[in-house]
Amino acid sequence: MGGDESLDPALRSWVASANDATTDFPIQNLPFGRFRVGAEGDWRLGVAIGDQILDLQAAGLVDQADMSALMAQGKAARRALRDALSQGLRAGSPNEAAWSGALVAQSAVTMGVPCAIGDYTDFYTSIHHATTVGKQFRPDNPLLPNYKWVPIGYHGRASTIGVSGQAFPRPWGQTRPATAPEGSPPNFGPSRRLDYELELGIFIARPNAPGEPISMAEAEDHVFGLTLFNDWSARDIQGWEYQPLGPFLAKNFASTVSPWMVTLDALAPFRQPFHRPAGDPAPLPYLDSAANREQGAIDIQLEVWLQTARMREAGHAGDCLSRSNYADAYWTVAQLVTHHTVNGCLLQTGDLFGTGTLSGPSPEQGGSLLELSGGGKQPLTLSNGEQRSFLEDGDTVILKAFCERAGARRIGFGECRGTVLPARPMPGA
Ligand code: MN
Repeated sequence: MGGDESLDPALRSWVASANDATTDFPIQNLPFGRFRVGAEGDWRLGVAIGDQILDLQAAGLVDQADMSALMAQGKAARRALRDALSQGLRAGSPNEAAWSGALVAQSAVTMGVPCAIGDYTDFYTSIHHATTVGKQFRPDNPLLPNYKWVPIGYHGRASTIGVSGQAFPRPWGQTRPATAPEGSPPNFGPSRRLDYELELGIFIARPNAPGEPISMAEAEDHVFGLTLFNDWSARDIQGWEYQPLGPFLAKNFASTVSPWMVTLDALAPFRQPFHRPAGDPAPLPYLDSAANREQGAIDIQLEVWLQTARMREAGHAGDCLSRSNYADAYWTVAQLVTHHTVNGCLLQTGDLFGTGTLSGPSPEQGGSLLELSGGGKQPLTLSNGEQRSFLEDGDTVILKAFCERAGARRIGFGECRGTVLPARPMPGA
């Protein structure tokens, strides 16, 4: 752990709930987010600790509630803030008296998106997702020839990114099934193949200089932290519109992030070697480094839960639909940052990357219903007997993630929750 005292699994906090073995937010985590008390107050910056939030202004740790300014600081300043938080929240700290007045219960606040999000890019880093989905569209040629060379991505839209708790109406759009006769007009209606995508969000810290690529060695200094991310997708709209320029209205009606940014410092104990399967080409030199091979992967366990309206009425928390791990991704965080800037593209503080759907190697590890239901052909039967090929109105999708290994304190990401509402009346009618 490089002697980072803030990661010592033996550390305990004077905030009692942070010492609960099941909390996502022990003193070793210290993720950052924005909150307000009630629905109208000003946004404030906070750090999750157990079931509480430490208000960073009230604790005297920041002057203003500007998350972007905090994120744009260099690595040394970020490190110093983490150390101050770790020292001050530690059991026996002299800060307890002053800081206990700066705590707010998480149950008493509204969380916001963690920072002002500038640009949003979605990647496609799971080769398992790319292969399974590719098979549905192109059975004889599932994985396109660029996949193992280029971290595939597209520019998305930040304006409709919401925070956990988001509810949005089922989108309208044009669809035309692949089986429709050639030349027939498309249908226009609410999507009937609405899906989720299990992803992680990567938040950019420090910008690059305009025009200057970020090297693999520098890449992680430009990353502030990770969240959960649900890239809701209307598969029927996507299937009709996506060629030749890629996803458009099938993706930009809603995307949901979890409120707490878990820093790379907190994730340090869960780094793993990153290697490609034998026989695969090595990444081009600009996307390769010894450090990336030694510890580029991050062991983050991921889960998707579904709570239908009927389950909710029955007081049922939902079914776990799948589990996967971020360590199975084909491209690392550093490779995404480096590739995105290799042409001189400017990344700015608060930019968000989606990792792409994080499916694992086995079929039951699909990170979307498209995969789990075989393109809608094999509906899932839920624990209460309901069936799903795609999402129904009233369905709530809950993403969760945590890191756990011997010799380290378990940390988690909290939840990323979103609910599908019925479609609005017909547009233009
Ligand atoms: Mn996606």
